[in-house]
Amino acid sequence: MAERLVILGAGESGVGTAILGKKKGFEVFVSDFGKVKEHYKQVLIHNEIEWEEGGHTEAKVLSATIVMKSPGIKDTAAMVVKLKAKGIPVISEIEFASKYTKAIIVGITGSNGKTTTATLTYELLRQGGLNVALGGNIGKSFAEEVAEDVYENFVLELSSFQLDGIETFRPHIAVLTNLSPDHLDRYDYNYENYIASKFRIAMNQTPEDYFIYDADDAEINKWLQQHPIQSQLLPFSLKKELKKGAFIKDNNIILTIDNTNLTMPIATLGLQGQHNLKNAMAASTVATLLKIRKTTIRECMESFQGVEHRLERVLKINKVLYINDSKATNVNATFYALDSMETPTVWIVGGEDKGNDYSELLPLVNEKVKAIICLGVDNQKIINAFGNVVDIMVETQSMQDAVQVAYRMASRGETVLLSPACASFDLFENYEDRGRQFKDAVRNL
Ligand code: ADP
Repeated sequence: MAERLVILGAGESGVGTAILGKKKGFEVFVSDFGKVKEHYKQVLIHNEIEWEEGGHTEAKVLSATIVMKSPGIKDTAAMVVKLKAKGIPVISEIEFASKYTKAIIVGITGSNGKTTTATLTYELLRQGGLNVALGGNIGKSFAEEVAEDVYENFVLELSSFQLDGIETFRPHIAVLTNLSPDHLDRYDYNYENYIASKFRIAMNQTPEDYFIYDADDAEINKWLQQHPIQSQLLPFSLKKELKKGAFIKDNNIILTIDNTNLTMPIATLGLQGQHNLKNAMAASTVATLLKIRKTTIRECMESFQGVEHRLERVLKINKVLYINDSKATNVNATFYALDSMETPTVWIVGGEDKGNDYSELLPLVNEKVKAIICLGVDNQKIINAFGNVVDIMVETQSMQDAVQVAYRMASRGETVLLSPACASFDLFENYEDRGRQFKDAVRNL
């Protein structure tokens, strides 16, 4: 009898897993507690996969041999608790899909910089001639790409939720971009638990594998000392010279891996900002490990302009530059955005606060920000944090207003930066919607 694969959640990873499971001979059932998007319904119907929405039929779920839980579903959800009590394995899409591919896997995780680093890495490998797919939290699910059965390499963006559900998943190359507190509501408000979850990316690695990480990150170093890992360490640093890995010297990136050396002038890089230097070092380390030619790496680094909503240059109007950093949904991301500002900045900030501590931004705000435009339903925390540092503060509750006010305040040679440090759900559908509304409002000025 066919094994029964039950999938909880019919989003990108759920539907991808269903397609792969069906292809591999499982009897597949997809169950979503909420509503399933029309597009995914069509895919399920087209593939003749049984599904339900608006609740879980217990008998159909508990008869599973194996369950794939979508990353958005918490471990504490009633059905997950019941499954575990019955001893039915509950795994993530990444775990399930990785069993069906022999491709080389590059797994990229971290609190910030995952999408940028994964996209850049993918471009390096693709332009270097490898047969490679980009997946995980970006674009198509890994499972669906595995089902296509054509790729020899994968670059995967992995969230901590995806990593929580792995058992044997083993990336040949793992990247940990950085750590800062995020999503702590899912980790019993314990930062250690969140860090442990990120490090699961290395738990099945062997001495033949590689672990690339930010050597300037105190939390990463501390963790590595206390919990040694098997794979070969390749650090990168903005601050110190390294014998192995990547660092900055005399305005160059210097990369050393065994007998390979690569030097790239910072000034030629398409991506700006200190944080992007780190992302560039991480991505070029991966590319070098996978034997991409130096000229290709250099060319690709010059032409890569970044990903939408991440310090994205929108327009210059009357010599004022407008930058969309809507993806900055936490304080650390905004820290790097402000850090990379080179002219006086009108800063649009605010949204749904995730327990933010703004104190680490104070020196940067003091130095760079001439006016703050709050854009959120509740702006009190921002007003309290920066009221004494910045003279001009305005509250707005629509993107249109925020951009209009910014337009009036910014003078020639200055910058208007949307970098909210908060989630978007109070006034927008998601960060993409917020970024698009910003760009539309700027274009309509
Ligand atoms: P993620 O996928 O981890 O959310 P993104 O690449 O989408 O990361 O970037 C999210 C936000 O973090 C953006 O505002 C971006 O400018 C900022 N950022 C990108 N790379 C880094 C980094 N290495 N360290 C800190 N912030 C970063």
